[in-house]
Formats: sequence, C-alpha cells, structure tokens
Amino acid sequence: MANMAQIEKNVPKIALITGASRGIGAAIAIRLAQSGYDIWANYRSNHEAANQLKNEITKLGKNCTLLPFDVSNEEQVKKSLSPLIENTTPDVLVNNAGFNKDTLLMWMSVEEWRSVTDVTLLGFFLVTKAVLLGMMRRKSGRIINIVSTAGESGLPGQTNYSAAKAGLIGATKSLAKEVIKKGVLVNAVAPGFIETEMVENLPKDEIVKNIPIGRIGWPKEVAGVVDFLCSEDANYIVGQVISVNGGLYM
Ligand code: NAP
Repeated sequence: MANMAQIEKNVPKIALITGASRGIGAAIAIRLAQSGYDIWANYRSNHEAANQLKNEITKLGKNCTLLPFDVSNEEQVKKSLSPLIENTTPDVLVNNAGFNKDTLLMWMSVEEWRSVTDVTLLGFFLVTKAVLLGMMRRKSGRIINIVSTAGESGLPGQTNYSAAKAGLIGATKSLAKEVIKKGVLVNAVAPGFIETEMVENLPKDEIVKNIPIGRIGWPKEVAGVVDFLCSEDANYIVGQVISVNGGLYM
C-alpha cells in the first residue's frame, strides 16, 4: 500500500515490524520486503538473528534498518524511533513483539504477569503512539497487531499471555474506530500454534491432536495474511481479527 504522493515521487514504502529478528516477525519482514517495502526491523537483543534478517532483505534489493530496543521501555522507544520519524512515517506498523512466561495463575509472580502484559500492551501503546500522528497527518497507514488464539479462547497456564492478547484485540477495535476516518486501517491477526522458538518446548504431538488441520502452522502462513492486510485488496477490512490457526478455534 503506497499513497499517491509516494507513487508520484517514487518514495519507498516503509514497514516497521516489532520483534522482527526471528520467527513470525522475520517472516513478515521478508514477505513485506518481497512486496516492495523497506524494513525497519525492531528486536530486543538477538543481534545475530537480526543481522541474518538484514542480509536476507538486502539480497531482495530492499533496505533494512535494525532497531534494537525493548518495546515496553518508553525511553528506548523514543530514543530509537524519534530520529527516524522526524523525517518520515512508516506506511505499515506490525506490532508483533511478544513473549510468554507460562505458569498457572496460582504460582504466577507479579513479574511474570507484568513482563508479559507490558511487552504486548505497553509495547503496542508506545510504538503505535510514536507513528500514529504521522500516519493520521498523511491520511494513510496500516497497523496490524499480532494477537493469538490464546486471547480468543483462553489457555490454561497462560492467563498473563491470554489477558495481554485479549487486551490487544480490544485495543485493535477501539483504535480502528478512532482513526478510520483519518485513512489508517487497524486490524489484528491471531495465529494458532506456529513453528517458532516460542513453541519449541511444547509437546507438539499432543498439540497436533487438537488442531483440525493436523499440523502446526508455518510463520510464512501468518506473513501472507499480514501482507494481504497491507495491500489494496484489503481496503475495506477494518477492526477485524483474522485467525490463522488450522481450525484450532472457530
Ligand atoms: P519468537 O520466535 O519467540 O520471536 C519473538 C520476537 O520478539 C523476537 O524478535 C524477539 O527479539 C522479539 N521480542 C521479544 N520481546 C521483545 C521486546 N520486549 N522488545 C522488542 N522485541 C521483543 O516469537 P514468535 O513465535 O515469532 O511470536 C511472534 C508474535 O506472534 C508474538 O506476539 C507471539 O505472541 C505471537 N504468536 C505466536 C504464536 C506461535 O505459536 N509461535 C502463536 C500465537 C501468537 P529477540 O530476538 O531480540 O529476542
């Protein structure tokens, strides 16, 4: 999705993706680079994985700016994004950074609750706020929040994670209503179990028995939906949660 001024001036389209060094975020970055976007790739600390991503995107002929910062740290978000957004506003923001610290609520510490909800909710708030005004002034933009089946159906051992993702679904819908008239479309994508480091220690044979399609999903299957939501074909889709879960939750 490029706006008219960009097409006329041949300005590159930019997608900011949080948590882009690995897993689903890296697949989204590659897919959007294939669709013509330069990438601003945020991550927390895995410089090696981030540099690999940069190499892949460079091979596709697109620019990749690496932005290591913690999305839930206000100072870091400002310090990293302010110099960039002074000059330009990304066309697309994908709020993908997330992590889990699973345990039963009975045993959950305040830190386990706070760190998981902060990355998803405060992270969404801080990064979105940084780019939103620019998108609204320009009257175009796409914001896609990566939520989870856990936020729709609930999962035992994940009250912190489920609460964060359910909260992000609510935030998606409220923000969608706030900014639709300003040309900014906000949606969410809800993956089920996807083959990344996040699920590497889970009992996959057991999990697969509950997935109607009979397998775990691939990061590229989430990335394809994000790419679609960024395209002109999705001009009439607003405030939706698109599930990519092999039928796990219908
Ligand atoms: P992953 O492989 O564990 O990768 C997580 C990414 O998020 C990494 O790039 C990591 O950076 C980054 N990150 C974590 N905390 C961060 C922070 N505080 N600030 C900035 N970046 C941070 O996870 P994934 O499976 O790709 O998950 C991506 C998103 O999809 C998450 O929101 C997750 O909740 C959601 N999701 C995943 C699944 C699944 O089955 N995999 C299912 C549903 C939803 P570093 O590399 O620097 O650590």
